[in-house]
Amino acid sequence: MSIALSDHLDPWRAVRYGLAFTGEVALSQLPRLAEIVLAREDAPPARVDYRLRFERDPEGRALVIGHVRSCLRLPCQRCLGAVEIAVDAPLRLALVKTDQLAGELPDDIDPCVVAGDSLDLAALIEDELLLAIPAVPRHGDGLCQPPEPVQARASSRSPERSASASESGLDPSAEKPHPFAVLAGIRGVDKA
Ligand SMILES: [Zn+2]
Repeated sequence: MSIALSDHLDPWRAVRYGLAFTGEVALSQLPRLAEIVLAREDAPPARVDYRLRFERDPEGRALVIGHVRSCLRLPCQRCLGAVEIAVDAPLRLALVKTDQLAGELPDDIDPCVVAGDSLDLAALIEDELLLAIPAVPRHGDGLCQPPEPVQARASSRSPERSASASESGLDPSAEKPHPFAVLAGIRGVDKA
């Protein structure tokens, strides 16, 4: 069974009837996620697979159980290039009507507070994916390098050529790359 994800679902009814939903949602329907995912020029936008089941546990709690899965193209925090991050997040949430009831749940059950009779399934799927993304997405160790600072290349140049390096905004004397090193180089040229 599948529904359009823009539709709001009555989760209490879904629990009563033990409904299950399986399908795909386009990234364009998940605006908070789309904001951090890099667009691909050569491929269609990423899609998210979801599988959700509504049921009651032996204690009588209303649950939504399932998983969300996608492959997201994110900016690598080391090389700043694109890195494909596979996300496959199981979810198990207790549906409750108030924050107070959420606080009364056992520690190992996460709440999903639904004040009325309407649950935004797309928002729920998006929340779970956002939680599953690594805090610092990056390529595996040794697979990429930080971008080489411009000043580091200039430091190997001979003093005779330093003037031309300075003119292009590079400070040949800078041991460590530093934003102000570029400024210092430009000022040196002005004095000369
Ligand atoms: Zn990288």
